[in-house]
Amino acid sequence: MLEAIQQRLQDTFQLQAFRPGQQQVIETLLAGRSALAVFPTGGGKSLCYQLPALMLDGLTLVVSPLIALMKDQVDQLNALNIPAARLDSSVDGDQLKVIYRGMEEGSIKLLYVAPERLANERFLARLKRLSISMMAVDEAHCVSEWGHNFRPDYLKLAQLASDLNVGRVLALTATATPQVAEQIRDSFAIDQADHIQTGFFRPNLAITVSPCAQQQRDEHLFKLISSGPAGAAIVYVTLQNTAEQVAAFLKRKGLSAIAYHAGLKDEVRHQAQEAFMTGAVDIVVATIAFGMGIDKADIRAIYHYNLPKSLENYMQEIGRAGRDGKPSQCTLVASLDDLTVLENFSYGDTPDDESLAGLIHWLLRQPEQFDLSVHELSGLFDVRPLVINTLLTYLELEGVIRATSPFYTEYKVGFITPQDGVIAQFDGERAAFLAALFATGKQGRTWLTLKPIEAAESLQVERLRILNALGYLEQQGSVELRVAGVRQGYRMVAPPASADALIERLQAQFRRREQRDIERLQQVADWAQHSRCYQQGLVAYFGETLPKPCGHCSACLGKHAAMPPRHRSEVDMTVIKKMQEEGHKALASPRQLARFLCGISSPKASRARLGRHSAFASLVDAPFSEVLALCGRPQP
Ligand code: ADP
Repeated sequence: MLEAIQQRLQDTFQLQAFRPGQQQVIETLLAGRSALAVFPTGGGKSLCYQLPALMLDGLTLVVSPLIALMKDQVDQLNALNIPAARLDSSVDGDQLKVIYRGMEEGSIKLLYVAPERLANERFLARLKRLSISMMAVDEAHCVSEWGHNFRPDYLKLAQLASDLNVGRVLALTATATPQVAEQIRDSFAIDQADHIQTGFFRPNLAITVSPCAQQQRDEHLFKLISSGPAGAAIVYVTLQNTAEQVAAFLKRKGLSAIAYHAGLKDEVRHQAQEAFMTGAVDIVVATIAFGMGIDKADIRAIYHYNLPKSLENYMQEIGRAGRDGKPSQCTLVASLDDLTVLENFSYGDTPDDESLAGLIHWLLRQPEQFDLSVHELSGLFDVRPLVINTLLTYLELEGVIRATSPFYTEYKVGFITPQDGVIAQFDGERAAFLAALFATGKQGRTWLTLKPIEAAESLQVERLRILNALGYLEQQGSVELRVAGVRQGYRMVAPPASADALIERLQAQFRRREQRDIERLQQVADWAQHSRCYQQGLVAYFGETLPKPCGHCSACLGKHAAMPPRHRSEVDMTVIKKMQEEGHKALASPRQLARFLCGISSPKASRARLGRHSAFASLVDAPFSEVLALCGRPQP
């Protein structure tokens, strides 16, 4: 067996030797057992499933949330003549057919999919007919509610692996505390002995914690960069506008810097990344959106302008420095004032009790088959879309509802062949059907808007017939289609015995999540403030022991400095009273008002344009819990 694996490594992947952990993971999988691989970013996790996938009968399904990475990997595999494909939103109808055929004929060995795709009933029905030898779950820490990046759709993957009769599962992650690792193992039934972890300690990274008051941060950062190592550097910030401001400041100071965040146009973002990768720009000032899949070996320094959200995030972000093994500097510009904004992110993700109850009662009133738009519900109940998705997943896991296929409510048809010409290609009943279908639409200047659900009703045909007809015309090249208004379909499976008990359980679950986020932040603050070796503290968080201090972090070098205390202002009662008197509908509940005053946006307040109100964020420096308590107190 070992020989066969080695042969594959050299012949197919053109690599000489395994990196730490790879061989053990591959042998475990080939022996028919599931495994958990915890390797640092760049440690070579992908090979752990790519190689065995070629040696097993059947298809390997790779679940990855990162579309850009998926594309890179599939391109690389195809360049090595490995039959791999990906299904994401950019794949069109023709490509889809080729992929489906490949899956059925067994000519595709690795199929990369986004987790959302696995919510599609029709796609699942297709998968069930196939033999799936392995499921690889990338970013597996997303299954864990203890983790720093919980994704509701991941919770369903374990159930899916068993529904699909998958031979074995490989869970992969670069960051997992012992608790998160345990939850991953439990979810996918992985033996403790098959949890394979290479060390977290990176000896070439020198960590410095450099406390600084909020107002002096820019100058402080400039000094650090000027006296730091030359070459490529990333400055991480929390907010998009901070990225812009800090990049502009560094440029004014004569440094070669550029901003990067998810709010930039695709084109601008690509240019920034390209400039950094080629070395045309030294410093990129970025939100955490930057870094996934950045394969640059010679990054010499990582600066944190703001505190990271968690030590998992911190580990991942500093892990991008010094991949070439050469000494690199990681500097945290630490100000406890950052905690406020970060805490507020978590508070914004907890629905208030009335909204949650309203939402559950709405769901329980639905018929056996129903559909919804997360966007619409978000506005209706003033709950963030991500929270609604989480809630729906909880309800699926409780067995109350079950997702069916998502569908679109609106199709815009652009005629490449004129409408009459399209109809003229068909005869008899089909021509009449198309003419009647087009007549249900609303003609705009360029697009004919069709609503398949309503059209199906008025023409007394199946909705699927309409979709098939439109799909056929598109494939033929006679029309162009655009879809809008996605709705997720559900089936009511088993309504709960007591709605109130369900609501209470869910409320408690959301509160626990909020509490854990806040604890994670506190752990960052505690770690930054202690005076022992920073590397020892960091790896201990991930359950490892570093026997000796690293010798080159600022604590080891005796340069530990105390942090300025967190700035906290008194709550100004007059502003609370004033807002209550103004009586905004979107701020009716104490939590809604407290969020608004602390600068946390919510769907309803945004739609009521309250973000521009002068009182928005006026209590941003006060503790949220205190503001919340005061907003709930009856006014004299
Ligand atoms: P991860 O997913 O753990 O972040 P990747 O799987 O993307 O890491 O691998 C990082 C890089 O290391 C890739 O360029 C990959 O080709 C390379 N690599 C992986 N395994 C080996 C190996 N055994 N020998 C040499 N290079 C390897």
